[in-house]
Amino acid sequence: MSFHSNPPNVGFVSLGCPKATVDSERILTELRAEGYRIAPSYEDADLVIVNTCGFIDAAVDESLEAIGEALDANGRVIVIGCLGAREQVVRESHPEVLAVTGPHAYQEVMAAVHDHLPQPRDPFTSLLPPEGVKLTPHHYAYVKISEGCNHRCSFCIIPSLRGDLQSRMIGDVMQESKRLVDAGVRELLVISQDTSAYGLDVRYRTDFWDGRPLRTDIQTLARSLGELQAWIRLHYVYPYPHVDELIPLMADGLILPYLDMPLQHGSESVLRRMRRPAATEKVLNRLQRWREICPGLVLRSTFIVGFPGETDQDFEGLLDFLRTARLDRVGCFTYSPVHGAAANALPDPVPDALKQERFDRFMEVQSEISREKLADRIGERLTVLVDAAEEDRIVARSYADAPEIDGQG
Ligand code: SF4
Repeated sequence: MSFHSNPPNVGFVSLGCPKATVDSERILTELRAEGYRIAPSYEDADLVIVNTCGFIDAAVDESLEAIGEALDANGRVIVIGCLGAREQVVRESHPEVLAVTGPHAYQEVMAAVHDHLPQPRDPFTSLLPPEGVKLTPHHYAYVKISEGCNHRCSFCIIPSLRGDLQSRMIGDVMQESKRLVDAGVRELLVISQDTSAYGLDVRYRTDFWDGRPLRTDIQTLARSLGELQAWIRLHYVYPYPHVDELIPLMADGLILPYLDMPLQHGSESVLRRMRRPAATEKVLNRLQRWREICPGLVLRSTFIVGFPGETDQDFEGLLDFLRTARLDRVGCFTYSPVHGAAANALPDPVPDALKQERFDRFMEVQSEISREKLADRIGERLTVLVDAAEEDRIVARSYADAPEIDGQG
């Protein structure tokens, strides 16, 4: 069977966020299903696919560098992913790439691979593990429930790269999740650009799973996922009123009492310029109510400091927000312009030194809160998931820590 002894080899480089990782996994699964082999190094590959990120300018540079590296080492490169949506940027730096496709364009990626590296004649589909090919360790997996976003935050170009919200039907998401759990995955991380908006675009249409009618909305999805034997963790949830209905599911132990909620700022005037809902007071009230219903609730969020026009007063407002909200896990970025974002046209940019100073003060305030919150938990007994068992230590996480981001030094 000569065609099996020498199957074509594809190298794969995956950059960017968890959403890009999910795209990579789908493409790797498809390649394996068609009988391609995944090469462990550039040298072993017949061609290399680079899945790029184009979110901020630093990510564009990193992506262009990765493409250059793959070209130097291998010479035959297909570029896919967010930066692929800006083909001229890729072609200006690297005119010799074989093909360029945009994000979540699975069919186009496969067509480009077929053009440049013919499909094996007899794909060995039975070699494909039923859960697909995962890039994450075996015990946790990301499940992407929708693509795109209906918001138009002024600092963000995701809607122009990925389009408006497109939700997967709930039956499809449940089927994938069940398959993952059956294959041994113990934690499912639900991701999208805007998890709370799930189903809006398909008008919450009813779909079927396991013979049952299910409404395509986030509450039904969370409840149904909660029936699987795995931790369910929700990422990118915005504090809309209907999120209130998720909190009792957490209190009842169906899904993890953990919410990743990118709030971005605490000053209403900055939020307005970011074109995000400016209802700081309501958010604070909502957080308080949630904690009353589910006292163990852990909240993660991210913020941007130094957004154009951010005054001292705005920044002090943000610190006050932090002190009142007392979030558990907080990430902070200094604002950096993204090519093509509406915020680039805003007046009054904040000087870099001031951005950095605000970042430092922000982290100081949050570190103190974090220290106090962690000290309160000393002595608690928690169920943990073991991420790594090494010779002299075990690395484990509780429900309060998402993999790869929380509690990492
Ligand atoms: S909610 Fe805003 S920041 Fe998030 S993807 Fe949509 S436009 Fe971008």
